[in-house]
Amino acid sequence: METKWCEDGLRMIEELTTNAERIQDELLREILSRNAGTEYLRRFLHGQTDKQLFKKNVPVVTSEDLKPYIDRIANGERPDILLAEPITGFFMSSGTSGGKPNLMPVTAEFAQKRELFHTLYESPVMKHFGDINQAGKRMEFMFARPEIETPSGLTAASVTTSIYKESWFRAMLPKCYTSPVETIFCPEPEQSLYCQLLFGLIQRDEVVLVGSVFASALLRAIKFLENHRQELCSDIKAGQVSHRITDSGCRSASSLIIKPNPQLADLIENICNSKSWEGIIRKLWPKANHVRCICTGVMRQYTAELEFYSGGLPLVSAFYACSEAQCGINLEPLCKPADVSYTFLPNLAYFEFLPVKNDHDESTEMRSNNEDTETVDLVNVKPGHHYELLVTTSAGLYRYKVGDVLMVTGFHNNAPQFQFVERQNVAISVDQEKTSEADLFKAVTEAKALLDPLGFVLTEYTSYADTSSPPGHYVLFWELKQKEGNHCKEVDPKIMAECCYRMEESLHYTYKIYRKKNIIAPLEIRVVKQGTFDALMDYNVANGASLSQYKRPSCIKSKEALKILDSRVIGKFFSPKSPL
Ligand code: AMP
Repeated sequence: METKWCEDGLRMIEELTTNAERIQDELLREILSRNAGTEYLRRFLHGQTDKQLFKKNVPVVTSEDLKPYIDRIANGERPDILLAEPITGFFMSSGTSGGKPNLMPVTAEFAQKRELFHTLYESPVMKHFGDINQAGKRMEFMFARPEIETPSGLTAASVTTSIYKESWFRAMLPKCYTSPVETIFCPEPEQSLYCQLLFGLIQRDEVVLVGSVFASALLRAIKFLENHRQELCSDIKAGQVSHRITDSGCRSASSLIIKPNPQLADLIENICNSKSWEGIIRKLWPKANHVRCICTGVMRQYTAELEFYSGGLPLVSAFYACSEAQCGINLEPLCKPADVSYTFLPNLAYFEFLPVKNDHDESTEMRSNNEDTETVDLVNVKPGHHYELLVTTSAGLYRYKVGDVLMVTGFHNNAPQFQFVERQNVAISVDQEKTSEADLFKAVTEAKALLDPLGFVLTEYTSYADTSSPPGHYVLFWELKQKEGNHCKEVDPKIMAECCYRMEESLHYTYKIYRKKNIIAPLEIRVVKQGTFDALMDYNVANGASLSQYKRPSCIKSKEALKILDSRVIGKFFSPKSPL
């Protein structure tokens, strides 16, 4: 059943995608006419608002380039250094994929667009799964993170935190979600997760959707359930929340809903005690009709595990967005994660695309130098081509590199559809060669296939460029898990060495040449204890990363993070020979 709300959303998508060019041009004109007088744009445009002049004179920038301006505003200078509108605060990007969190100004209008974005990305999902809001509740794991006060008196929050604070979201929360607001804002991530699971289990018959923003947080919740199921069930049986929960907000929210229910506790215990956890999501939440979380990009590695737990429920990646701007929506929610494309909507930001060379037969280091390349407009991108995304927004970002590489897969009306390829600049490199996130993913995928017949699965990985002694070499940290029914505790060292070699063989041409000439030493896999990547996540969250927006880094740069991984290594393996 589609509601009027959904029909309106679908109609709007058709209008927006049909008139993409006009809407983009109007949006740019509006942004420039409002902001041409700012200190920043005056330097390049001298008060003019012409599109061609904008493209010719305004430089393509990174977060580092804009940081001095944004810092001045955060330190109390007037925002019209960068933007004409008054600002309401700052967003912090998650800071886990590329380094430290960045601040971005937020205006009231910019924040409003998010409610519209919500309608736009929900509409295609509702078309397939019916009106979720009428059918029951969403069990989505949501984690607000403490806000930071800047010297200007304005606060900086993660995007997800600011959504959780908005009135339209708060109005939906009690009716449409299982988690009460107190659990979302609980400052202790473990207590928050425990209570959100408790509430989700108590209301299991109402749950129509299970999810989180990114796949990693949902998997974390399932593992947490595996480890704390007895405690959760005894809470449900006794009708009181465990002593581990000390947060007063969580305790009082729990006291309103939890009542002794031994029958429900036994049922959940029985399901959780079943030999296999295959399809556990479906068994625990029988009315759920899909699993909602982003499974593309760096989250691809979690797809197989989530498919195992979800027991055939579709995994839906509904949108593509970043702290800088909302960008695209998934018009085909039933599409497999590997095939998901996001249709860009022209009213969300002014988009430009920097062509990126994607010839992987040679070497990724030959990637063209983007700085001198002309950008392509939204409606003029070409299918099959790779681009780096730039956004210009009403909130003071002009020709700003988001840091993502996307590939055009087609068009919906006149709006292009993109597959997420990789984060730019998170490549691992020990010499002149550069290995991208996508290169690594491909090599890991090929190597981990060797573990399959042995009953092991790779659950998490990251990389590190070890240049402590020449020649440098690639280190891969792998966390492995035994498949259900496999009693063999250790992986055969010969197979692990073979995995190292298979990775090297799958890497690009330059890597292999350098390896052959001993400019790069043999690739190493360090197997870490189970739970290591949870510890890494905990470390990052304790240092300011948002749990809702957490993305496991593809390459470790911080010494502290490296220490966490190294202290949990249980086996080291090296490639036995040079590839080629
Ligand atoms: P944040 O820094 O927390 O705003 O995270 C934004 C980043 O998350 C984007 O720039 C992407 O790298 C990644 N991201 C967001 N949505 C998706 C998606 N649907 N698929 C893949 N990666 C995504």
